[in-house]
Amino acid sequence: MHGSRPSIRADGGALARGFVHETAPVRVVFAAGALARLPDELDRAGLRRVLLVAEAQPAHPQLPEVLAVLGPRVAGTFGEVREHVPVAFAERARAVVAELGVDGLVALGGGSTTGLAKAVALTTTYAGSEMTPIYGLTEHGVKTTGRDVRVRPSIVVYDPLLTLSLPPDVSAASGINALAHSVEALYAVDANPVVSLIAEESIRALAEGLPRVVAAPDDVDARATSLYGAWLAGIALGSVSMALHHKLCHTLGGAFDLPHARTHAVVLPHAAAYNAQAAPEAMARIARALGVAQAPQGLADLAHRLGVTETLRELGFPADGLDRAADLAAAAPYPNPRPIERDAIRALLARAFDGGLVSA
Ligand code: NAD
Repeated sequence: MHGSRPSIRADGGALARGFVHETAPVRVVFAAGALARLPDELDRAGLRRVLLVAEAQPAHPQLPEVLAVLGPRVAGTFGEVREHVPVAFAERARAVVAELGVDGLVALGGGSTTGLAKAVALTTTYAGSEMTPIYGLTEHGVKTTGRDVRVRPSIVVYDPLLTLSLPPDVSAASGINALAHSVEALYAVDANPVVSLIAEESIRALAEGLPRVVAAPDDVDARATSLYGAWLAGIALGSVSMALHHKLCHTLGGAFDLPHARTHAVVLPHAAAYNAQAAPEAMARIARALGVAQAPQGLADLAHRLGVTETLRELGFPADGLDRAADLAAAAPYPNPRPIERDAIRALLARAFDGGLVSA
């Protein structure tokens, strides 16, 4: 099986091309039970009064526990959290920060909560936002994203115990969102050997951990393995450029209001198939990390095993939206291993709509 794969150069060719790799100044505390260390971490950073950002409706399951651990350090809480960070929510949060005069924010939750806070993150899905300088804001139905080092959290506390309450279906979809960061990092236009190592290890960890999480959500070891993979995926996302897959998901999420992580789960095998022939080294590394012969099929099989939604149809995408989605995805050119061809994108989306065999 391994013999038929293309050989993988240790550096993916980037050593000869040259590359830039920047290591972010972020402190990561990773341990089962790490929540108990949060007060010390805040003291160490000189943060005396913080705003705790966590979903209020319904309340994040660990909100009472975190409030108890932080005690008087919490000057207030902010609970208006929604996917893609509506501008009005961000403005209200800024007003609360100004009013309370806090010197930091602690985010408890996933990408949506982190998206709102993007300051000091305590995070519990696998989106990876806590590791990136990327932010997103939505106003009048249009989501804009940007990169600014000021939004990158300075401390990230990963506690697998906090993820035990993350439902298996959310874990699975969010885990594939993480996997997608690492898949695209391996064929990024600015890929580099260090990030590629991180991305490959992330895929290995997620592919090992996520099926065990879905089978036994209380398995702390499986949770830790998945969270470790998600952390590494977040580093990959924050370090190099994403391509077709993220562009498609951004387009589908923004223009058709589809759920973020579940859209990633549907699209990923199809985006990988689109790029398969143009990115053989990346595909070989993805396949090696998954322990399979073919990366796109391996990604589809993993998604199937995890029981995530596998078609755009099931996500509520309208059948007559394929042309518009293809037009939008092909509108602004961006780097991708295989050139963005409008009709081929339309065909990719049609396969993602109906499901079925992934083919290049
Ligand atoms: P999310 O944050 O909306 O969380 C998904 C669900 O999980 C929610 O219902 C939430 O209540 C629940 N949840 C979270 N933690 C839980 C826990 N410990 N126990 C039980 N339930 C829990 O979803 P997401 O996929 O993590 O984030 C999506 C958002 O993040 C999108 O807006 C996306 O664009 C953004 N994002 C940004 C970046 C970045 O680098 N800027 C990276 C990835 C995602």
